[in-house]
Amino acid sequence: MSPTKPLTITGYSTALFSTWYFIDELACLFDCGDGMSAGLLQKSRKIRHVFISHADRDHLAGLLQFNQLNARPELSIHFPRHCGSFPALAAFSGKFDPQVTGTKWLPLDPGDEVQLRADLVVRAVANRHIESVPSRSKSLSYFVEAISRKLKPEHLGKPGDVIAALRSQKGERAITEEHRRIKLAFSGDTPIETDGRYDDAEVLIHESTFLSSDEIAADDPCLIRHSALDQVMEMASNSRIGTLILGHFSTRYHDHQILEAIDRLRERYKIEFPIKVVLPGQIGRDVLADA
Ligand SMILES: [Zn+2]
Repeated sequence: MSPTKPLTITGYSTALFSTWYFIDELACLFDCGDGMSAGLLQKSRKIRHVFISHADRDHLAGLLQFNQLNARPELSIHFPRHCGSFPALAAFSGKFDPQVTGTKWLPLDPGDEVQLRADLVVRAVANRHIESVPSRSKSLSYFVEAISRKLKPEHLGKPGDVIAALRSQKGERAITEEHRRIKLAFSGDTPIETDGRYDDAEVLIHESTFLSSDEIAADDPCLIRHSALDQVMEMASNSRIGTLILGHFSTRYHDHQILEAIDRLRERYKIEFPIKVVLPGQIGRDVLADA
């Protein structure tokens, strides 16, 4: 996976109905709503890790068919630990399709990491779609992070032979520190977060259920559960995002309303990075192409 070549992302995300995003180069699927296998066909065979953000049915209803088609020991399905739906589904899947075996169903807590490669992890991050006490999160975002080691600041600028001597004396780990780059962040369903968690993400896939925060009454529980486009665009404009992918729009909007709102907000927040849109009812294929 070269840093210059964009990831190949196929996705579907329509509020209430289904959400899933497949990242070809990572062999990862984020959420598995209804229609995922039918949308990816043979490509679904490439998936090795599934990460489910939460247990709402539009984010997991495709798991039964996916597992039936693809179960094998190399396949793992990760989910928030405190959602009872996943053990229930794993047990039902085992009874319904008893010939299907091998899949590992693995619960995650916020902060847990799943190693994709020596230099690549997926980190689970709590979000606020479903309120619960911090140690019992039922709703996760996922961050794909590339890990490298860089010289500690005190060694920067030293001549190569000095660094080589230090390296043989003290060892690589003593003179370097871990550096992480967010290759991709997947918000799942969530209100926006302005704590800087998405800063410098090469790709941010964010939900955008509503077009305007004005449409949501202050006492509506949706206000704290979902994001509105104006909030996401403002937040992203402050986060040095590489490319923003927007999805999970409500079907109450026509495509042209969504696209016009994005254009208007792009001007308002002076956004120059590319914005890609997964429109309601449509599969986005190679979403980042031409990014
Ligand atoms: Zn949803």
